[in-house]
Amino acid sequence: MLDFPSMSGPILRIAIPSPLRRLFDYLPPLRAEAGFIPGQRFLVPFGRSRQVGILVAIADHSEVPADKLRPALKALDREPLFDPTLMALLRWACDYYHHPPGEVFTTALPVALRQQREAGARGIEHWRLSATGRALSREEFRRAPKQLALFHLLEEYPQGVSAARLDAEFESWRPVIKRLREKGWVEVEERPCLPEPAAQPADTAPPLNPTQQQAVTAIGEHLHEFQALLIEGVTGSGKTEVYLQAIDKVLAAGCQVLVLVPEIGLTPQLLERFRHRFSLPIALLHSGLNDSERLCAWSMAREGLAPIVIGTRSAVFTPMPKLGLIIVDEEHDASFKQQEGFRYSGRDVAVVRARRHNIPIVLGSATPSLESLHNALAGRYRHLALPERAGTAVHPAIHLLDVRQQPMEEGLSAPLLKTMQRHLDAGGQVLLFLNRRGYAPTLLCHDCGSVSHCLRCDAHMTYYARSGRMRCHHCGAERPVPPQCPDCGSLDLRPVGQGTERIEQALNKLFPQTGVVRIDRDSTRRKGALDALLAEVHSGEGRILIGTQMLAKGHHFPNVTLVGILDADQGLFSVDFRAGERMAQLIVQVAGRAGRADKPGTVLIQTHVPDHPLLRLLVEQDYAHFARAALEERRAAQMPPFSHLALLRAEAVDKQAPLTFLEEARQLAEQLPHEGIWLLGPVPAPMERRAGRNRAQLLLQADDRRTLHTLLNAWAPQLEGVKSGRKVRWSLDVDPGELF
Ligand code: ADP
Ligand code: ZN
Ligand code: ZN
Repeated sequence: MLDFPSMSGPILRIAIPSPLRRLFDYLPPLRAEAGFIPGQRFLVPFGRSRQVGILVAIADHSEVPADKLRPALKALDREPLFDPTLMALLRWACDYYHHPPGEVFTTALPVALRQQREAGARGIEHWRLSATGRALSREEFRRAPKQLALFHLLEEYPQGVSAARLDAEFESWRPVIKRLREKGWVEVEERPCLPEPAAQPADTAPPLNPTQQQAVTAIGEHLHEFQALLIEGVTGSGKTEVYLQAIDKVLAAGCQVLVLVPEIGLTPQLLERFRHRFSLPIALLHSGLNDSERLCAWSMAREGLAPIVIGTRSAVFTPMPKLGLIIVDEEHDASFKQQEGFRYSGRDVAVVRARRHNIPIVLGSATPSLESLHNALAGRYRHLALPERAGTAVHPAIHLLDVRQQPMEEGLSAPLLKTMQRHLDAGGQVLLFLNRRGYAPTLLCHDCGSVSHCLRCDAHMTYYARSGRMRCHHCGAERPVPPQCPDCGSLDLRPVGQGTERIEQALNKLFPQTGVVRIDRDSTRRKGALDALLAEVHSGEGRILIGTQMLAKGHHFPNVTLVGILDADQGLFSVDFRAGERMAQLIVQVAGRAGRADKPGTVLIQTHVPDHPLLRLLVEQDYAHFARAALEERRAAQMPPFSHLALLRAEAVDKQAPLTFLEEARQLAEQLPHEGIWLLGPVPAPMERRAGRNRAQLLLQADDRRTLHTLLNAWAPQLEGVKSGRKVRWSLDVDPGELF
């Protein structure tokens, strides 16, 4: 055998976006100026292209033959972007989620830094008319309609308008504005990306009630030790107030605070409360930012200039040199789990991060996940309950409405309609909840019984009456409503079941004098639409709200005195083992929108199964009792959190290919030590065809987490080499949120 001279000198081990579960070895750049520190970005040759990667480790030799090693092109950062603790967290995440390091590290970077942009706080471009520009008459633009349009837009923003806003409101504005600028009619300035905090906080902290005080004390007891606390407090019990006062202590100690919120939980109301309490820069990290805004907020956090960072899931990876406390609000929310690519749980990673930083973490919810509740009951988390509503507000009364044999008007039972009228007459607002958008789940042919199927999914197409279209909620396919049944030619096509659009239409007919506002993903698609609809509700112009789970999060409707849950039965009969938990959380969260302030609320839940034991527990007792009973069911069924799951999914256009790959994967697993692990499947996914691809899955279940991960450690790299795997798209999901 040939003996290669071993490479001496440092070898850079770099994470590069790629589906492979490994790092890539490089020699230092030929003209290296400074030392190398893990966490720096490097530009490297990769195949025939160049890539930005992150230095993860420095080794003194490489397994790669010396003549195959290439030098990195250059270091992109002088300082590492991630500190050692964050680097260690990211490496842990690669191992725990068995995901390619290149994709894990990339997820942690703002998009701008995945390219070659420089890290560092930057301003955000703002444009406005110059003094000459403001004096112009429209005559100047006679031959330039585009310039005129942009001129009008700029007139609407005398204080200046951000590039992000221009992106949203004016297509290809850059060349147009360039011409205006050449003429001296507009000017541009860079403004700090974080709004200037007020000189003085507008609000002062109210005195806490005893349970709140206990919670704040518990959080602040050991600021430099790891401690996880679960705050279980009904909506309105003053959890946010507890966060604010705990944060205050941590800031006073000179530390930074990270607040994680669900995707649509970051409401203007929450933000206002933070802004009014702290006159400090607050960095926001959410999906509505453009690349520059995100980079700017991220850089402010990383440089310690933003003491408070509020963000969604991926903000858990934000570098914060003085991190002293993490808060995960609405910790039960499914949006903390990423459902594609690197399928991490922002909440779970946050707990690990707190442990590594030796700091407290607070998980808060009115409806804790069964996982967190289990951890609390087992003593791993400190459990704090806030059972009472803060201030004077009282709990809403919840009743089940047995709709069996009741006359129904478009999904609205007679008793519900009567109660609605009573609350409207008394000056209250009514909120109706139905987790199904569109007019009706499908169209049915009355003559032959055929229904509208999506051609690419095993699913019905949803009927939209107003736009006259059929839409698939799973792949986005759309087509016009067929004029007649494609199977028998009949003209008698009827909508079956109700969606929010249909309820809205029915309400407009039943309550012609009353403003109806619909809030769902369809009605809020346009930028600014949600704010406009919410304003209608808050002004009192809209008095009946109908909406989907978008209504369940964060918004407060102080004048809502009646909440109607139109269909609670959906969640009770789903194939997903978490469906019951989700339904209960939704019901309680929606119920929590009502009866704040001085107006007690009533909640009516329409159901065909009023004797369902868990539903009764939820209504007659509360979520806490429901959750404990649901946990016992999980224990009996050996489902999480009493066992641990990993799901190997595969999909392909070909029907057989996913099953073939998964069968081979299963055989590989069987050849590894797998005692204590059940291999379930492969089986077709509950919705086998989606967007034209056939999907299948293999479930791994183990009582012991370590046993499962020992197998995954050996198994995941093997899967990369399986030949049949090249014919499918596959992914490994550790702690899957949904078994679909
Ligand atoms: P949660 O986050 O649990 O829904 P909040 O913190 O938003 O509860 O509190 C609900 C309402 O009660 C808010 O209007 C808040 O300002 C008020 N509140 C909270 N704690 C107190 C307190 N100790 N004294 C007076 N009002 C309070
Ligand atoms: Zn037909
Ligand atoms: Zn479809």
